[in-house]
Amino acid sequence: MAIKQPKALNPFVEAVAQFDAAADLLNLDPELRAILRIPKRELTVNFPVRMDDGSVQVFTGYRVQHNINRGPAKGGIRYDANVSIDEVRALAMWMTWKCSVVNIPFGGAKGGVIVDPRKLSRAELERLTRRYATEIASIIGPESDIPAPDVNTNPQIMAWIMDTYSMHKGYSVPAVVTGKPLSIGGSEGRMEATGRGVSVVTREACHVLGIPLEGARVVVQGFGNVGSVTARLLHAAGCKVVALADVFGGVYDEHGIDVPFALRYVEEHGQLRDLPNTQAISGAAILELPCDILIPAALEGQITYANAQRIQTKLVVEAANGPTTTEADAILRARGIPVIPDILANAGGVTVSYFEWVQDLQHFFWTEDEINARLESIMVRSFNAIQAKRDELDCDYRMGAYLLAVARVAEATQVRGIYP
Ligand code: NAD
Repeated sequence: MAIKQPKALNPFVEAVAQFDAAADLLNLDPELRAILRIPKRELTVNFPVRMDDGSVQVFTGYRVQHNINRGPAKGGIRYDANVSIDEVRALAMWMTWKCSVVNIPFGGAKGGVIVDPRKLSRAELERLTRRYATEIASIIGPESDIPAPDVNTNPQIMAWIMDTYSMHKGYSVPAVVTGKPLSIGGSEGRMEATGRGVSVVTREACHVLGIPLEGARVVVQGFGNVGSVTARLLHAAGCKVVALADVFGGVYDEHGIDVPFALRYVEEHGQLRDLPNTQAISGAAILELPCDILIPAALEGQITYANAQRIQTKLVVEAANGPTTTEADAILRARGIPVIPDILANAGGVTVSYFEWVQDLQHFFWTEDEINARLESIMVRSFNAIQAKRDELDCDYRMGAYLLAVARVAEATQVRGIYP
């Protein structure tokens, strides 16, 4: 099926534009380019869920596998009212490049359900998850496609997916998902892996760019799994976290926010709003605060043509997937603001997911120190490889990462050949 050209300003347009730019520079064979430009497999499922009041609601979900030439497909599942097929396609394509950037043997996939999970009870969330897992069971599995948490999904939801898949098989299949609770085959260090990886590449980039980490003014948009761990680790490393935001709004303190206190506050209140000793600021406005390191860690499309000129930072680290549009990227490049791209910056999550999958398959588990040391070494190795590309070609970090990632996937595709 030929995919219709998506509307402007949609994440899949952004993802394809990024790929095209790298394919141009790599002089990629047009046939290879045609293969890599679109997802390999897309599944749309419409399924009923019994609500607590006895009524039935029909939900729509997706699972998209972009490329599986380097190994099983890998990618999270997102629950959000704004999920669309083009968003899932973009996220699946980014996963292919991300796994390739850190050189782990996975292809890229992503899933999503159009739902605002905050409007569901726990029992409704469980029934929705188990039914969605059943609907996509034909294409997921430890050898084929391994989901993980993403926006609004968590270890409990992974546990329900693992249990549902296992019930259908008749035996336990822990390696079908990653990001599971420890008690059923999860990995030490997985919960904080993405934020830990973000903090490692931030440290490495600051070192190369001559930005002292001690006292660096940091702004983090998004205070969920990725944003909160990133903020905590950078705060612990001596940075001054001056602003944080979640979906309900932001908080600002020019003297630096006590991040461990903010974490306890959010645990108790469910949001950052009214955090003591801070001023209120909108989630969009914090992106324009003067700072040394700006870390979008919420959703895609946050730094755009509309605000890129007003960004006042020395470094952007993309903890979220796709937070910078192609137009904004060009503006930041012209303004000399380096951007550490998502496919490198947040690859720590999928890296420890890979460790979790390996541990599940071998039924032998590593310690948290072993996990963190292996993660650190992969993130540093990947950063250095991209830094070397940047130095060699005088390109930006995103192009360096894409050149490395696309070349690896293209080589795997070429060497496998076209079946039949
Ligand atoms: P999450 O659901 O745990 O947290 C998302 C956070 O963003 C929440 O604090 C939410 O309130 C906030 N948010 C949402 N909309 C916002 C807005 N408009 N302004 C400010 N804040 C807003 O999700 P997560 O797992 O932390 O994922 C965040 C990003 O990181 C996503 O782009 C995701 O794809 C990406 N990512 C996540 C992982 C992972 O391991 N969880 C791995 C790689 C990439």
